[in-house]
Amino acid sequence: MNNPQFKYPDTKAYNFVVNRLHERGVDLEDLVAIIYQTQKKFEPTLTADRCRKYLTDALHKRELLNNAMVMLELDRLTEAGQIAEPLSSIIRNDVGVFGVDETLALQIANIYGTIGTTNFGYFDRVKKGILAKYDTDSHHVNTFIDDLLAAIVAAVCGKIAHQYA
Ligand code: MG
Repeated sequence: MNNPQFKYPDTKAYNFVVNRLHERGVDLEDLVAIIYQTQKKFEPTLTADRCRKYLTDALHKRELLNNAMVMLELDRLTEAGQIAEPLSSIIRNDVGVFGVDETLALQIANIYGTIGTTNFGYFDRVKKGILAKYDTDSHHVNTFIDDLLAAIVAAVCGKIAHQYA
């Protein structure tokens, strides 16, 4: 049941997500690079510093942190064999008709508006930079992390598009 005394642990949630991404081989600068490369052709005055600031802002939003924690934990628990069948096999094999990974990712992509949906579709297809790494790595369960990264980048690109419109 809902406990009204519970205070949302913003800092702990942020640290959890950033540290887990780091453990999974994601340097936030890799995300900054994709955001900057993608948006600079639309916004010539954009700087990498600006992109870094927008990424940091996005990573502090509870809407992003909640979904990111669930996604990162589902990859980890599946890899550790702690998810029951048949869900475990479905996640492990990144089954096309599953779609929960995309659903959780799209909520993140849309935190700054629906432009994030278009951006997410684009990044999911072109797999720029570090996004490609999780597509070919068969040593880990990457079912959620690849969509998570594409969604974070998509959301921040959407934020920039609104900011400069
Ligand atoms: Mg996926």
